[in-house]
Amino acid sequence: MKHIWSPWRMDYIKNRSDSNECPFCLALSISEEGESLIVHRGKDSFVMLNRYPYTSGHLMVLPFAHQENLAELDQETRGEMMEFIQQACSVLGKIYHPEGFNVGLNLGSAAGAGLPKHLHWHIVPRWEGDTNYMTTVGGVRVIPEALEDTLEKVRTNWP
Ligand SMILES: [Zn+2]
Repeated sequence: MKHIWSPWRMDYIKNRSDSNECPFCLALSISEEGESLIVHRGKDSFVMLNRYPYTSGHLMVLPFAHQENLAELDQETRGEMMEFIQQACSVLGKIYHPEGFNVGLNLGSAAGAGLPKHLHWHIVPRWEGDTNYMTTVGGVRVIPEALEDTLEKVRTNWP
């Protein structure tokens, strides 16, 4: 059977299963720039690094509101998130020169959404032949870049 690599599996959540705190709301509550993984704060939504990236540059776009469904967000928020997704692709393109992107949402537990119930878009840069067999086979990921370096680059290049 061929393994289809999915970037939407949320190890982030698994590692947080002992906590009821929403890591995204928690990230938002941190005011010190240096201590959060937040790249950019908009009016209704924000952009942050995934703490457990599948490739270097794995970003997430989220509403400020702790909501799990798109329908619970207003049109303005959804619009701003789409704008941030486009900017994220553009910034990542400039830094990493990927050959493609996976952009997506997990909605509902059957689709892989877990706790916390805080909707988040994934933006994952992809390269031909990058299918990460180390992840699917060994449960080990090789990320060539430190998170702080990614954060610095993305923040610097964010419009
Ligand atoms: Zn939340």
